[in-house]
Amino acid sequence: MINIVLFGPPGSGKGTQSKYLEKTFNLKQLSTGDMFRYNLKHDTDLGKLARSYMDKGHLVPDEVTTDMLRAELTKHKGFDGFIFDGYPRTTAQAESLDQILKEDMDEEVTICLSLRVDDEILVSRLLERGKESGRADDANEEIIRERIREYYQKTDEVAEFYKAQNKYVEIDGVGNIDEIAEKLSCQVELHISE
Ligand code: AMP
Repeated sequence: MINIVLFGPPGSGKGTQSKYLEKTFNLKQLSTGDMFRYNLKHDTDLGKLARSYMDKGHLVPDEVTTDMLRAELTKHKGFDGFIFDGYPRTTAQAESLDQILKEDMDEEVTICLSLRVDDEILVSRLLERGKESGRADDANEEIIRERIREYYQKTDEVAEFYKAQNKYVEIDGVGNIDEIAEKLSCQVELHISE
């Protein structure tokens, strides 16, 4: 299996690129943001809890997020691997992911592909997305900036976790979507032919 952590700040293009990688390599994207939004929409207890963090641009607590991801992971069969989009967002989550993959599937993270995009580009991309997506957290510049702050405070360090395992590859996330997809695919292919 190929298990990709698609990494990068909000607005770096993880969702867009996941769709491409899913098709090319028969992978299943697991987006914790999408899972939370599903729960918000259906007004579940988990959704109510998550909303109180998401509306402020803060991270939902690790344990809640990890339990949700673990439950989802076991639902999908017939794929050649997973794309983790928006998870892990803390070092504790990265440790949990290793543990879950090992215990539940005897698998491991193959590679962490990190999309690099300047902050001001992120802000303008997210504001633009907010006009169409209807996402409350994309509509307000203050919340967007808080999400980016949260990224640098808690998430950026996850890069070190994968660097230490020689699994970290950084890719320029600015430019033509197809070209970025091509660069990501090249990295994935290196691991398929291994
Ligand atoms: P995203 O769609 O990945 O930008 O996530 C939207 C929001 O969901 C984030 O701003 C967080 O509030 C929450 N969220 C998504 N994934 C995680 C995660 N791995 N850990 C904690 N909170 C998360």
